[in-house]
Amino acid sequence: MDYCYFDNNATTKIDNQVFEAMLPYLKDSYGNASSVQHKLGRQANHAVEKARLQIAELLNVNPKEIYFSSGSTESINTVIKGISKAYQSKGNHIITSNSEHKAVLSSCHAVEKEGMQVSYLKVNKFGIIDLEELKNTITDKTVLISIMAANNETGVLQPIEEIAKICLENDVLFFCDATQWIGKLPLDLSKIPIDIICLSAHKIHGPKGIGALYIRRKTKPTQIPAMIVGGKQESGFRGGTYAVHQIVGLGEAAKQVNFDHDKVEEVRDYFEKRLLEEIEESEIKTLGSSRLPNSSNIHIKHVKATELMTKLPTIAISSGSACVSGDRDPSHVLKAMGYTDDEAYCSLRFSFSKYNSKAEIDYAIPLIKAACESIRKDSPIWEMYKEGLI
Ligand code: PLP
Repeated sequence: MDYCYFDNNATTKIDNQVFEAMLPYLKDSYGNASSVQHKLGRQANHAVEKARLQIAELLNVNPKEIYFSSGSTESINTVIKGISKAYQSKGNHIITSNSEHKAVLSSCHAVEKEGMQVSYLKVNKFGIIDLEELKNTITDKTVLISIMAANNETGVLQPIEEIAKICLENDVLFFCDATQWIGKLPLDLSKIPIDIICLSAHKIHGPKGIGALYIRRKTKPTQIPAMIVGGKQESGFRGGTYAVHQIVGLGEAAKQVNFDHDKVEEVRDYFEKRLLEEIEESEIKTLGSSRLPNSSNIHIKHVKATELMTKLPTIAISSGSACVSGDRDPSHVLKAMGYTDDEAYCSLRFSFSKYNSKAEIDYAIPLIKAACESIRKDSPIWEMYKEGLI
């Protein structure tokens, strides 16, 4: 073993079946899916519609409710900016939480500049919103509630069924960023009245640069203006020639999803057990909360994540969300959960997949232990802490 990939919430390895399914559309089946007058075009069109059906089957919805996008960032921008414009006559208020993905927070900041009011709900020490606070924050001007299903940094789950119920009772649209939930836990949208969700192929062993939006048609007519205008693709909702190979990859990845996560959860739990046993002053602050089966956010006292990572070149891990891991700021998610700056800087995300094994954990733990010891050996702060001076 010479390399372990434990950064599956950032992106995942593409499945062989997905790769094989995409190849024909990069080679011989190169038709434009809108050119249905000829055979190659019809082949491409058929492939696109098959993928739409595969995603709809995963979510138990009508394929007409699925729209392709380049991924969740685009979907999130489309929904938040689009609804802010389209629902102006109803109201100008959005509710979200302060531990959302940056795509949600940045889209909210953008619409605030256009005159929208955004309420950012606090989260508790596990990262979960308070449902009473949510109810009390809704006003007759609230047009959208945007709360993620599972957090990308911690794996912590929000009570999305209850949120959906509150939204329904108050006649407010519920947009759920389900990017991390999909593929890891089941989501039956025929049972949970969420209005809109987004998902992304590269989080479920599919290709990068492709995702989908589900927009419920039955319960509420949702009018989100087209984000990209051009041809009449996606019923005019998103113009541009279909990226057929990508769409096929997303469809196949959706088909390959299987919820037998016992093995992933076993690997994650084994990792946490070994870490707590072997590494002095390490902790998992989200232990005991509802979490994704693959995610672990750990805190190692007085060991900076960035420093640890440079000492572990053969282990892929993350010091926060992949999108912001170049940031010097401490994770906004951990800060929202009440971590101090120092605790946030000393936290790491491990996220596993079906491709990981306990043998990899046995390889990684001694390396992590040695790296922590080497960092602490030269650390005056650690020395002072051990002497009880801080
Ligand atoms: N939302 C969440 C919760 C995510 O984890 C990510 C990716 O890290 C995104 C949105 C953005 O997804 P994409 O990479 O498809 O733009």
